[in-house]
Amino acid sequence: MNKHILIVGGGYVGLYTALRLQRKLHRELRGGEARITIIDPQSYMTYQPFLPEAAAGNLSPRHMVAPLRRILPKVRILNGTVTKVDHAERVVTFQPAEGEPRQVAYDVIVMAAGSISRTLPIPGLTDIGIGFKTVGEAIALRNRVLHLLDVAESTEDPEVRRRALTFVVVGAGFAGVEALAELEDMAKDSTRYYRNIGPADLRWVLVEATNRVLPEVGPEMGKWTLEQLRERGIEVKLDTRLESCEGGHVVLSDGTEFDAETLVWTAGVKPSPVVNDSDLPLDERGRIKATAALTVAGTRDAFAAGDAAGVPDVTNPGQYCAPNAQHAVRQAKVLADNIVRHLRGEQLVDYRHKYVGSVAGLGLHQGVANVYGVKLRGFPAWFMHRTYHLSRVPTLNRKVRVVVDWTLALFFKRETISLGEMEHPRDGFRAAVATTRR
Ligand SMILES: Cc1cc2nc3c(=O)[nH]c(=O)nc-3n(C[C@H](O)[C@H](O)[C@H](O)COP(=O)(O)OP(=O)(O)OC[C@H]3O[C@@H](n4cnc5c(N)ncnc54)[C@H](O)[C@@H]3O)c2cc1C
Repeated sequence: MNKHILIVGGGYVGLYTALRLQRKLHRELRGGEARITIIDPQSYMTYQPFLPEAAAGNLSPRHMVAPLRRILPKVRILNGTVTKVDHAERVVTFQPAEGEPRQVAYDVIVMAAGSISRTLPIPGLTDIGIGFKTVGEAIALRNRVLHLLDVAESTEDPEVRRRALTFVVVGAGFAGVEALAELEDMAKDSTRYYRNIGPADLRWVLVEATNRVLPEVGPEMGKWTLEQLRERGIEVKLDTRLESCEGGHVVLSDGTEFDAETLVWTAGVKPSPVVNDSDLPLDERGRIKATAALTVAGTRDAFAAGDAAGVPDVTNPGQYCAPNAQHAVRQAKVLADNIVRHLRGEQLVDYRHKYVGSVAGLGLHQGVANVYGVKLRGFPAWFMHRTYHLSRVPTLNRKVRVVVDWTLALFFKRETISLGEMEHPRDGFRAAVATTRR
């Protein structure tokens, strides 16, 4: 056999599947009987649960990503996107970062392309909204919040100041609550360096269409989280939808209207669009239709897991596994083992994992947890959140770097500089060229 295993996406599922295959198929890989390729636009896997901590400046963004080429020396990494999957022909169309698209043939495919923000056609959303799924978004938001404190301190126009200091987050799941709580904590902490801005001048608004926050930790802890956020002065608007935000003028379904410079959209995810450009079957929610054994339903040689796949939850008949890292990382293990079984003609096994609950960080030394029925709040939950994610972040190298970041933060005050200029690195040079012309 010379089997080419192609993994579309190098995130949780892609990285962990490849890691395990690299180990389990080491003889075949050495003997040239198997090859593994990952295609991903990035050359790293993002540990998404650390995005809020990176946004708050507790972690260096470089330490929350895992470099694919270093961790997977036996795997070929191609940077670019898969734009089409023709499984009938066992070929994908690969658009490299530069140059013409080309076809890449395979014998076995793993669809691990994850998800993107699920947006709605709300007027103004594309102009001022920003998501919270990538390192780029998290760091841009951090820079933006700090830059807006500078703007507010430097203006004499009360309208400009009020608008700069108003921050809106839409969606009160994991990503929204953690992003808001960490950013609010950082901004509040930063006000000590400003003469004319105090914590009470900051306005944070959390907009949620349903009647609860953080459903991942259950109703009781969700209610506690809601109270905590409100005690911190955050306006939490439940049963409320964003109607429009044209030009930064926010209109909510409860009739509230105000201006804001920043609007973070975290109201759910949908599968990566590549699933629509494939001949693989989709379920009613547009995800790749997977079996409990993590194969693509009704096909041979195709596997799928993670946020892009609808995987039946065998511990909860009739339901699907939720799109989270808890499932993604465990599915990857079973998926890799099933690929090995498939190549060896053995019987595949089903993925089985009962959701154990969740932990969430709510800012420095604050958190909430409901894991295996154990409910924690405040510092113990925050400590659990950190130790759990430290144990999960890939490679010893990253773990050490994360611990060093956290240790430094114990002894020194938080970094509160906006490096937003990095997003426009050529502005200064262009201005210099313009001066020469004059
Ligand atoms: C802020 C935040 C906090 C979170 N916190 C938690 C938490 O505390 N606990 C928890 O369990 N879950 C958490 N999650 C959810 C968790 O991170 C995701 O469920 C998990 O990353 C899904 O893994 P995946 O492999 O399916 O997708 P991803 O890890 O997103 O990987 C998908 C990969 O596919 C690549 N890709 C996409 N399209 C293409 C294409 N066309 N061609 C090639 N490559 C492509 C992407 O670049 C990406 O690298 C959090 C998510 C966010 C955003």
